[in-house]
Amino acid sequence: MNIRQLCNPSVLKQPVYEPGRPIEDVARELGLDPAGIIKLASNENAFGPSPRAIEAAARALAHAELYPDGGCVELRRRLAAHWGLEESQFVAGNGSNELLELLGHVLLRPGDEVVMGAPAFAVYKLVALLFGARPVEVPLVNHTHDLPAMLRAVTPATRLVFFASPNNPTGTINAAADILAFARALPPHVVFVFDEAYAEFVDDAPDIRPLIREGRHVIGLRTFSKLHGLAALRVGYGYAGAEFAALLNRARQPFNVNAVAQAAAIAALDDTEFAARCLRDTRAGLAQIEAGCRALGLETVPSHANFVLVRVGDGARVFAALQRRGVIVRPVANYGLPEWVRVTVGTKAQNERFLKCADDLLIGGPPV
Ligand SMILES: *Cc1c(COP(=O)(O)O)cnc(C)c1O
Repeated sequence: MNIRQLCNPSVLKQPVYEPGRPIEDVARELGLDPAGIIKLASNENAFGPSPRAIEAAARALAHAELYPDGGCVELRRRLAAHWGLEESQFVAGNGSNELLELLGHVLLRPGDEVVMGAPAFAVYKLVALLFGARPVEVPLVNHTHDLPAMLRAVTPATRLVFFASPNNPTGTINAAADILAFARALPPHVVFVFDEAYAEFVDDAPDIRPLIREGRHVIGLRTFSKLHGLAALRVGYGYAGAEFAALLNRARQPFNVNAVAQAAAIAALDDTEFAARCLRDTRAGLAQIEAGCRALGLETVPSHANFVLVRVGDGARVFAALQRRGVIVRPVANYGLPEWVRVTVGTKAQNERFLKCADDLLIGGPPV
């Protein structure tokens, strides 16, 4: 008997997630010096982690022989104070990606439906498929979630709605009032998963805490991978009603968030000054890329996050050509956007380098 015949059929059908290419990988393949390569491909924080987070991580590393606090007690205590919620309302994860998977473990059975935008974060579809659920993809309109159409896509079989604002890969948002009204219009057999991976980049992001207080089936997901610059450490969290959070905590591994990540996350949360500086510099960088693209005649989708879609004509060709010049961006053909690449905001110098390479490639001129 072949191992494939023994395996869960959902795994055989599982598409492979294509991450942004690591610098070392590209250096090896193209024979480039890794020090000369810049990665603008995975929406990481170009300004790094907070120095205080690095110190806290180093202190925790010195005690790597001990298992971490499996309950993330201190982190959840800080989060509770930060949000004005109870500790029992939080569940920490190995990146918010783990929370997406835990939602599958807790809520999905074969035949269920999961409503999401298209294009939206690739992991939503992977989670639905892994648990034998059916992804119901609702096309974006003007690169923005079509909330009325998403509501119409809900059936008695719907269990989850995955929704991010700002959305990845488009960087677009929906109005806070529209998002809250959408969540309130969902029937009680549907859980609204509000993915706030980029919420820190938006001034008037919706506050879902009133929905939680009203007893609605909602969960907010946050990550330390983006604004806080801790993507390598894998830490994120969800906040919801205490009963819902307890179910997610029951489904997770006992030590799912490592001690170095916990210590760094707590310090990052405390270093509000550093976060504010990153936010300011990221916004300036976004404006720099958008203006630079405009000057080159390249269309962009107005973004509210730390990345931007740029229409380059042949996304795969431009991705490869930029890579040969040591600039890694993200091709998005797998998101149904073959004419675009997604560019993460870098430092001022990195953004300049991207724009210079784009100019050299003569990908300017009227978009095709
Ligand atoms: C980056 C990202 C996440 C979070 O990733 P983790 O590193 O696993 O915390 C979640 N949702 C979206 C839309 C993202 O872009």
